[in-house]
Amino acid sequence: MSQAVRIDSETGRKLFATRAAKATDRIAGKGYSIVEDAALKTLPPPPPGAVFDAEEQARYRKFKEARSGAADYIRLEGEFARYLEDVYSDAPVPRDALDDDCEILVIGAGFGALLLWYRLMKAGFTDVRFCEKGGDVGGTWYWNRYPGIACDVESYSYLPLLEEMGHIPSMKFASGFEILEYCQLMAERFGFYDRCLFHTTVEETVWDDKARRWIVKTDRGDAMRACFVVLANGILTTPRLARIEGMETFRGEAFHTSRWNYNIELQGKRVGIIGTGATAVQVVPEIAKVVKSLHVFQRTPSSIDVRDQRATTEEEYATWPHEKDWAVKRRERLALISAGRTALQGNDDFLSGKIVEYKRAKKHERELSPEEMIRAQLNTNFRIMEQIRGRVDAVVKDAKTAAALKPYYPYGCKRPTFHDEYLSAFNLDHVHLVDTAPTGVKLINQRGVVHGGVEYPLDVLIYATGFEWMGTGSFNMIRGLGGRTLKEKWEAEGTKTFLGMHSAGFPNLLIMNGPQGGGGQFNFTRVAEMHAHYIVWALETVRARGAATIDVTQEAEEEYTQHCAEMDLLSAPLRDCLSYYNGDGKAKPGSLAYYGGGKRWHDRREAAQTSMTPYRLA
Ligand code: NDP
Repeated sequence: MSQAVRIDSETGRKLFATRAAKATDRIAGKGYSIVEDAALKTLPPPPPGAVFDAEEQARYRKFKEARSGAADYIRLEGEFARYLEDVYSDAPVPRDALDDDCEILVIGAGFGALLLWYRLMKAGFTDVRFCEKGGDVGGTWYWNRYPGIACDVESYSYLPLLEEMGHIPSMKFASGFEILEYCQLMAERFGFYDRCLFHTTVEETVWDDKARRWIVKTDRGDAMRACFVVLANGILTTPRLARIEGMETFRGEAFHTSRWNYNIELQGKRVGIIGTGATAVQVVPEIAKVVKSLHVFQRTPSSIDVRDQRATTEEEYATWPHEKDWAVKRRERLALISAGRTALQGNDDFLSGKIVEYKRAKKHERELSPEEMIRAQLNTNFRIMEQIRGRVDAVVKDAKTAAALKPYYPYGCKRPTFHDEYLSAFNLDHVHLVDTAPTGVKLINQRGVVHGGVEYPLDVLIYATGFEWMGTGSFNMIRGLGGRTLKEKWEAEGTKTFLGMHSAGFPNLLIMNGPQGGGGQFNFTRVAEMHAHYIVWALETVRARGAATIDVTQEAEEEYTQHCAEMDLLSAPLRDCLSYYNGDGKAKPGSLAYYGGGKRWHDRREAAQTSMTPYRLA
């Protein structure tokens, strides 16, 4: 047995030492700056009487239709596979392949897995093993270390287990580097490292019905047997590249934002970035500070809302810990704010419990029908978007650049972004927006990007082109009863789950933060928290009833899936746009990236846990 695996003398179980993270001195940075200039962090008021009328609707529709079919991506395979290399860790720690048993095997070592481990440990489940592709914990925060990275849900509600850790983040929107360090602290404190196989990618998960075990095979030659498998591997983790002719001929340096190559010096270089999603919006202002020239190739502009970053105050450090469960309560208050923008701005007085109303509730003379509610929401969204567009005019000096930076889609269609330095970056002489709408960049040559007959020579090209939705092999190669894979099932029948946590025919498989999985709106951590509690409940229930397996009935799954589709159809007018949230307009209702039922998920979960009718225990 190698150094990487040893036996715990107390329990007789295997403990691991496979963490391969490098010292992080070259890969440290900060997120949002504190901006003092009030003009840069205010939204102008909406024009009086602004409503989403037929004329505006037609304009939005035109904007969408022009882009229709333009989204075209490739996987990082073949010559692009090198962009997937783990640049943050040393080589994998050598170890022998494992072919042993464990009770619970969790795929992933990000927030979901860390939280789950804490809850499992507290509930007395200790025969738990984790497999993680990267060299350290953190998941999203392990891979994404680009300059400017920070969370967009306020960090006091976003970071898990703050009370248990006795920790308060240093900024309202903590940088990704601080979050990664926090993940490492959690892992050390809770003994996670001993249980995790790093640099281990699960390639196949096959149910052996006779043995009532999952056989989990990895790229390290392992064939482990587990009673339960939990997917905590995230749904937006596999990087993707735009399909662009000639991209392989480019002679400069190139990389994807989720594998930021800090060995490539950007100081004084001609840099290009393709994409203007949430990632690029954080990257652009930071690298603009050092590069010689920056060309931002945009297909669809993001909505750039106010960030208003601030440091945690001395008073907050001193007083918050006095409230029992302060962070859990804060997270609950944040979850009460259902409108995305209000929540993401996070009113401090409301969240800290100083005030109980975060905004004056609008009173209607009678209860609105669902259609009227959507109409009202569209109008509110339109006014916010008018303010977002007004901000572009107020900040960006060049009229042509300003026009191109204005988004015309319902608020939330392209993931809302927040920044107080992004728009003003385009006022710098060396920063240029290249509007590639509606097709996007289509040609790259040895020297750089070519668009509209103009060549943009570059030393470094950065792909900020996002991630494949559920692209990981862990989702694709799960073979349940009868040898059918989860992918085959969902491709044939559409996404089908119960509560987003189980899929019928896949006993003892539990899914965290997967499709159709509700429980916490937009705050991933709250969803993960709810799912961790649910998983502990499911495992305890199996134990308490002397059963070996838990599955769900077809009827329960059909009914839940139908519910997800209805929720999607109801809110469809709010998503009359193209984004990865709706499979670029192609996702079937019920198969969207996110669950739209809000509190209804909890109602269904509670009803199921009380009646037990959706479950098959054997
Ligand atoms: P996205 O998928 O959101 O953005 C990809 C970008 O690439 C889009 O702007 C897309 O344009 C553009 N693009 C694709 N092909 C081309 C082309 N050929 N030419 C020009 N542009 C092109 O990826 P991100 O990495 O920005 O974000 C992914 C998700 O990660 C976010 O939605 C968010 O959920 C999360 N995230 C969260 C952060 C946080 O919480 N702080 C920070 C960053 C990311 P188009 O819109 O036209 O398709």
